[in-house]
Amino acid sequence: MDAVDKILVIDDSPVQTEFLTSILKPDYEITACHTAEAGLRTAKEGGFSLILLDVVMPEMDGFTLLRELKGTELTRYVPVILLTSLTDIQYEERGLLLGAVDYVTKPFSPVIIKARVNAHIQLYHYQMQFRRQAMVDELTGVANRRRYEEEYPVRWREAIRFGLPFSICMFDIDKFKLYNDTFGHPAGDQVIAAVAKTAASYFQRSTDLFARYGGEEFVALFLGSEGRTAFEFLKTVRQAVEELHLQHNSPVSPWVTISVGGVTVVPTTEHSPEEFLQRADAMLYDAKNFGRNMVVWCDESHRQLRER
Ligand SMILES: [Mg+2]
Repeated sequence: MDAVDKILVIDDSPVQTEFLTSILKPDYEITACHTAEAGLRTAKEGGFSLILLDVVMPEMDGFTLLRELKGTELTRYVPVILLTSLTDIQYEERGLLLGAVDYVTKPFSPVIIKARVNAHIQLYHYQMQFRRQAMVDELTGVANRRRYEEEYPVRWREAIRFGLPFSICMFDIDKFKLYNDTFGHPAGDQVIAAVAKTAASYFQRSTDLFARYGGEEFVALFLGSEGRTAFEFLKTVRQAVEELHLQHNSPVSPWVTISVGGVTVVPTTEHSPEEFLQRADAMLYDAKNFGRNMVVWCDESHRQLRER
């Protein structure tokens, strides 16, 4: 990590924030806020590796703010160290229960503050790295199924909120078992990785999600395209995979190919997202039955589109 870590200090006493800033400034970038409200706004701008939070402040206190921070997706994982004076030592337990990682009592020892801050920032980086790794498929480097399962309901709700068409598709590599039997599993792994890399390059918008579902199966979500456009788009992806010209020994093609099944819907709260994954899967099943190396799509009017 080359960039300097940012720390947010929230304390109603300017003397305290200046003191903390002078201790930490040489190693970190410090932002100070003197009310909980300003602290919350600033925290939500993101980018902080640690928050130092005073417990006793007028109006909104540190506990209320801590609860807000832990309940907000963007700030949930940022470690919070509570600043308490000896008189509010009975609150420490409450703070830790609310999700603070640590507390320091005033008056501060600069050495102790520095040591705790350094330790928690390091832990924060390990945790973030672990979270990223836990969401990535090791073989292909694309999102894994866990990430897909976490994101699917989020994207679905976004589509409902913005009234956007939502598309989901599933695809898999044709005759993959035959490939493995012919060329061996290590070669099979390379094919999965190559197909994933090519397909992933088509799903680059921030609202797209492309993930390995398992084995030689992939899933993609994207927002804002009408059914016909989504269908044409996946035909491009299908073609790009075939044009990798990865040798196969299958009745479908001399090359490695994919079959794609997808559905586009303008979702409402009446729909359930699971129903659409099943429909995409049914379209994939049709693509297999109609000869593979093809895209089968169900559009918003329940028309089935089917082409190579
Ligand atoms: Mg105070």
